[in-house]
Amino acid sequence: MALLRQPLLLLARSQQVKNLVSTLPVSAGIVRGYVPGEGTEDAVRAAGELAADGLTATLDFLGEDTSDRAQADATVAAYVDVLAALSAKGLASGTEVSLKLSAIGQFLPVDVAPEGGHRVALENARTICRAARNAGTTVTLDMEDYTTTDSTLAILRELRKDFPETGAVLQSYLHRTEDDCRELAYEGSRVRLCKGAYAQPESVAYQDAADVDRSYVRCLKVLMEGQGYPMVATHDPRLVEIATSLAGRAARPQGSYEFQMLYGVRPDEQRRLAANGERVRVYVPYGQEWYGYLMRRLAERPQNLAFFARSLVSK
Ligand code: FAD
Repeated sequence: MALLRQPLLLLARSQQVKNLVSTLPVSAGIVRGYVPGEGTEDAVRAAGELAADGLTATLDFLGEDTSDRAQADATVAAYVDVLAALSAKGLASGTEVSLKLSAIGQFLPVDVAPEGGHRVALENARTICRAARNAGTTVTLDMEDYTTTDSTLAILRELRKDFPETGAVLQSYLHRTEDDCRELAYEGSRVRLCKGAYAQPESVAYQDAADVDRSYVRCLKVLMEGQGYPMVATHDPRLVEIATSLAGRAARPQGSYEFQMLYGVRPDEQRRLAANGERVRVYVPYGQEWYGYLMRRLAERPQNLAFFARSLVSK
């Protein structure tokens, strides 16, 4: 099954396969398992349902790698809209948003953005951070493939000057991440640690799952012993257990860190942790651009491929 991971991650970037698969309705079983719907109202409904179960959420308006300025602007508008809706429903204190900088212009070509994509993404991210603050909540910057890490961390540093509550994401599969954790483990710094979801070359990333896990533990130790707020994003039962014991060893009370899992993945475990007093946040992706997200989830769990194939045949 591990052999299927790289090809599936490459397919995540294939326009032809995307065109075929994107004809699936969001209601198709395999998509609906991971994405509650396409609209603001679907995301807010999911956040409300999670809140009723004692869970918090982070909403992600799906989209990435845009080379179209109008699309980047539409993504900013979607975030502003969902933040206002969360505030109106009284859900903003337990629900934040996650943001991919490549969806708001980070890599716009120069003919579209003469000032440079980096600057466009920074200004767009500022607009979303301001809307989040007005709503009473926060933004976390998702981390994408390794070619974006430096630019994303540079934008994070800029944003944190005005919005120190902005969260970062670090990926344990990258060789550099233990150092990045040390740099970001300061007071007030919210850091989500995940394994990493993209196909990365061995010059920059561990290829073996056991090495990625060992790196995760080293990074987690740095974050738990540091002064920041660790956000432990994994479904891996061993890592969840290790996180709990590292928090204990660092004398961290529950609530001084949190667990994070994806919508639809191990929902019983999400509720079990919350019932044990842990803070648990569920990452809720919504919108029409679910293709790349779905392919990354299939790469993590190729057992779901048969289910996926049936959805395509019966559509
Ligand atoms: P794995 O080794 O993949 O899985 C461990 C166990 O979890 C499996 O044995 C299985 O029991 C269960 N499981 C895992 N995946 C599934 C599934 N799809 N369906 C059912 N069961 C499953 N990656 C990034 O690169 N950038 C980000 O910004 C980012 N943000 C994330 C935010 C959150 C809240 C989470 C939870 C993940 C995020 N990821 C991100 C993805 C992450 O990098 C991993 O690719 C993903 O979480 C799978 O790794 P894992 O730690 O769950 O371990």
